[in-house]
Amino acid sequence: MIYLDYNATTPIAPEVARAMQPYLREEFGNPSSDYAAGRRAREAVDQARGQVAALLGCRPGEIVFTGGATEANNTVLKGIAQSCGRGQIITTAIEHPSVLAPCRFLQSLGLKVTFLPVDASGRVDPGEVRRALTAKTILISVMHANNETGALQPLGEIGALAREAGVAFHTDAAQSVGKIPVSVEEIQVDFLTLAGHKFYGPKGVGALYVRAGRTFSPLFHGASQEGGRRAGTENVPYIVALGEACRLARERVPEDAGRLKGLRDLLHDRLRSSFPELVLNGPEKERLPNTLNVSFPGYSGAAILGGIPELAASLGAACHAGEEEISPVLAAMQISREVARGAVRLSVGRPTTEAEVERATTLMLERVRALSR
Ligand code: PLP
Repeated sequence: MIYLDYNATTPIAPEVARAMQPYLREEFGNPSSDYAAGRRAREAVDQARGQVAALLGCRPGEIVFTGGATEANNTVLKGIAQSCGRGQIITTAIEHPSVLAPCRFLQSLGLKVTFLPVDASGRVDPGEVRRALTAKTILISVMHANNETGALQPLGEIGALAREAGVAFHTDAAQSVGKIPVSVEEIQVDFLTLAGHKFYGPKGVGALYVRAGRTFSPLFHGASQEGGRRAGTENVPYIVALGEACRLARERVPEDAGRLKGLRDLLHDRLRSSFPELVLNGPEKERLPNTLNVSFPGYSGAAILGGIPELAASLGAACHAGEEEISPVLAAMQISREVARGAVRLSVGRPTTEAEVERATTLMLERVRALSR
């Protein structure tokens, strides 16, 4: 298999698997227990908290472990809505369903939610945020990098607006953490979501950064784990794994980003030189270094990938009841149905090789040629 879907998920790094191993077996203590085995588990969780904090440039006490990015997004959106009672949330039309769906749920409870549009390259204009702000705004939630196009959003500018207005600012950084350097100070956020499996950690574990002093009503009520912000016995092996994935990311991101960008651009160049009508969906520059979303106008992405079983990649349109439904992200970018149908989402990762990129492009171009016959 040639795997070019690292934005969907990544394999667990060998270092991460090794780090979590003892906590799956002999080190099974409960971090809340007051004897040596419990204390060792507590120390392991604390060490992981420090590793996550070091990656984001924050304090360990500002990290809350969760069962993934979906939980972190639900926690902040529902938690702020619950503690404020009423008000308006500003978000975008291109968020992941784990932000869009809780926002729609909150709308059904009577909150006002503004879904901001994006430009043709998939980026939000900070001016739109300024225009949407009202005295009732309780939260702005704008993703850092889009999972489909890799479009990086102007968070520094939006963060400055949020600060000026005294409004809490959240970002879903599930796609950017581990791929580019992410500093909570630079992007001026109060809340940030990350997910382990997007950067060589396990699925089902993530974290929410909560700026010191910011409070919210917790999603789960129970015992006092995570400072009362996320009840439930800590998932020690997965938390240890997340910590190690963060430590590795800190060490490797600067070097990885350059190499991945090289592979991604090679992919793009090879496809474009044989198929000049190829359309890039997403910004040329302000984009994750590993992500390439391109359209073959006049073709179906599903027909292209469907004919290459050894290639694992995603589409810009999903098939529902025989109808091709274009992705809401591409729709929000006002990309025509004809172009969106032909979209494929390719994302490279640490294990990707040049030979895989060459082989994938050959297979895709052969398939396009076969379909045009
Ligand atoms: N946010 C973004 C931007 C994502 O890409 C994903 C995963 O696809 C999620 C949130 C949800 O992550 P999880 O399914 O691990 O909770």
